[in-house]
Amino acid sequence: MQPVLKPIISRGQIQARLRELAAQINRDYAGQPLLIVGILKGVFIFLADLVRLLEMPVRIDFVRLRSYGDRDSSSGRVAITKDLELDVTDRHVLIVEDIIDSGLTIQFFVQHLQQQRPKSLKVCCLLDKQERRTCSVPLDYVGFVVARGFLVGYGLDFAEDYRQFPDICELEL
Ligand code: 5GP
Ligand code: MG
Repeated sequence: MQPVLKPIISRGQIQARLRELAAQINRDYAGQPLLIVGILKGVFIFLADLVRLLEMPVRIDFVRLRSYGDRDSSSGRVAITKDLELDVTDRHVLIVEDIIDSGLTIQFFVQHLQQQRPKSLKVCCLLDKQERRTCSVPLDYVGFVVARGFLVGYGLDFAEDYRQFPDICELEL
């Protein structure tokens, strides 16, 4: 059986929301240099669109994290498979993530970066699966709150497929 892809957030809705998020970030950091840390791979399209709307001086770095767990949920055990290349100490740092589900991955990474003493540390995510959260992580900038269900497109994959889709879709297997 072919999987069914149901569009839930269109490319137009994404771009409109990104302009609002960027306006908020531009106001909050007004003129202060910002180090953006993207969590690969799912974030690559969101981050590319977002940074082009930012007005302060921006530097960009990436990490790749592996969350262990079964297909449906994260266990909270996280490994860094590609670490930062830039120094975050004494810088305003904004972590950018595609989607936050249980919150365990981002919780691990926030704690990890805090140890390196940034000047400030905030989190921006495109999608927030709030109802599945099992830990408390403050999210500073959220694109869309979404229901449970597996989302693909706009950078998000299922077994490495569908990242190129311009709209965010729910995958019905
Ligand atoms: P956590 O449960 O730790 O918050 O989420 C772990 C990771 O699972 C996220 O960073 C994200 O990459 C992935 N993930 C969670 N929900 C979805 C989803 O609906 N679609 C896709 N493609 N990845 C997801
Ligand atoms: Mg991710």
